Amino acid sequence: MIYVYANKEKCCGCGLCAYVCPCSAIKLEPDNYGFLYPEIRQVKCVDCGLCKKMCGFNYDYSQRIIKSFAAVNQNQTQLLQSASGGIFSALASSFLRTGGYVCGAVMNICKGHANIMHIVIDSEDDLPKLQGSKYVQSDTQEIFAEIVSLLKNGEKMLFSGTPCQVAAVKSCVGDKLSENLFTVDIICHGVPNLQFFNDYLHHTETREKIIIDDLKFRDKRYGWSPEGGIEGTYCDGSKVSERINPDNSSYYQFFFEGEIYRDSCYQCPYAQDKRVGDLTIGDYWGVEEYSPELMTDRNGPFSKQEGVSCLLVNTVHGLSLLNEYGQSISKEPVDISKIKIINTQLKHPSEHSLLRDKLLEGYVKNGYIEVEKIFQKKLMKKKFKKRLKSAMLKVIPKACTQRIKKFRQKWKIQ
Ligand SMILES: Cc1cc2nc3c(=O)[nH]c(=O)nc-3n(C[C@H](O)[C@H](O)[C@H](O)COP(=O)(O)OP(=O)(O)OC[C@H]3O[C@@H](n4cnc5c(N)ncnc54)[C@H](O)[C@@H]3O)c2cc1C
Repeated sequence: MIYVYANKEKCCGCGLCAYVCPCSAIKLEPDNYGFLYPEIRQVKCVDCGLCKKMCGFNYDYSQRIIKSFAAVNQNQTQLLQSASGGIFSALASSFLRTGGYVCGAVMNICKGHANIMHIVIDSEDDLPKLQGSKYVQSDTQEIFAEIVSLLKNGEKMLFSGTPCQVAAVKSCVGDKLSENLFTVDIICHGVPNLQFFNDYLHHTETREKIIIDDLKFRDKRYGWSPEGGIEGTYCDGSKVSERINPDNSSYYQFFFEGEIYRDSCYQCPYAQDKRVGDLTIGDYWGVEEYSPELMTDRNGPFSKQEGVSCLLVNTVHGLSLLNEYGQSISKEPVDISKIKIINTQLKHPSEHSLLRDKLLEGYVKNGYIEVEKIFQKKLMKKKFKKRLKSAMLKVIPKACTQRIKKFRQKWKIQ
């Protein structure tokens, strides 16, 4: 039996192996949990080894960060449509206007069923589709052929995606065609799979008795935060709009707690401060604390409500990309150590608890309803603890609670 990958932690599911296989012997198939992995049709395979040789995960593309900034797109419309400081759209707009092509992730929801994939665009009109974070693995299987063909025709390409996707594209394109390829990796804590996400959508539809028309993972109507929004329609045609966050959505909570990612995300070789893309973009969480002089309340240029990005320049190619196409970006130098304080993906991969196994096993046995049950139980426990705490505060004299507080601090009890 011939395998593409040694173990599941070594496969990010990008599909490059299927693209390069000269015998079309490889197909990505979902495992029990819905994560896609390459399967080789043994009768077609000639054991040429190209799938393993080209695998982006086998290469060390890491580059030292040359410069680091806090940054924001000055175009207000684009900024408000973005998850963070709108750096991606600032670069992409300018790139498209000068005749380039841009590749990034889109999410289409049709009758409550989502599809998330990378597409190539050549017009600014299509840019909003690529904006915003989609907290699901995006399918990149179809884009390799298109990117290579455009680069061979002498076109320039701006590719953006998770670091493993950038590594796959770099491996696919190779040195010969790399001059016109610019890459932007997003800081990433990990990706759940599309099947799991769609099951969450269907579960929500059944519970709320709606058809989901749209979902925004990060919605600036609620400020720069992990809050999103769902738009839906009831069967009588009336519309509903709901705010979603880790406190009221199982998918959100388990996503942000890092319990539902692909196996490879927990051993991600790119979760570090050496980066794979020419540029890296992410959220500069904690900016108001670590760089207070940059905030509007101290007469600085950035607003916490609208979002602030971190922007890392990793290559000379990245520097020329920024200089040539980053005119609408307002940026201020910031020491990388400040950006790394909260953004731990620049230090190590995400970790999960024992809950992950329970969630995934429950999901396989009983479907998404089991995930929801675990979430509801957690929610009830949290509510009970909160109620108990406030009840105790009422009956225990103040002097006593202060003593308990001191005791907990001394012995570091949470
Ligand atoms: C799964 C995921 C995890 C993330 N984790 C972190 C984190 O731990 N720390 C952090 O600072 N930032 C994280 N981000 C990045 C952050 O949310 C913003 O996407 C990023 O800062 C870019 O913001 P922007 O305002 O410049 O552009 P936006 O317009 O908000 O983002 C658009 C860009 O994101 C890309 N994108 C969106 N969804 C996906 C996807 N599913 N797969 C690949 N590319 C995608 C698009 O291709 C485009 O390049 C994560 C994003 C995703 C999708």
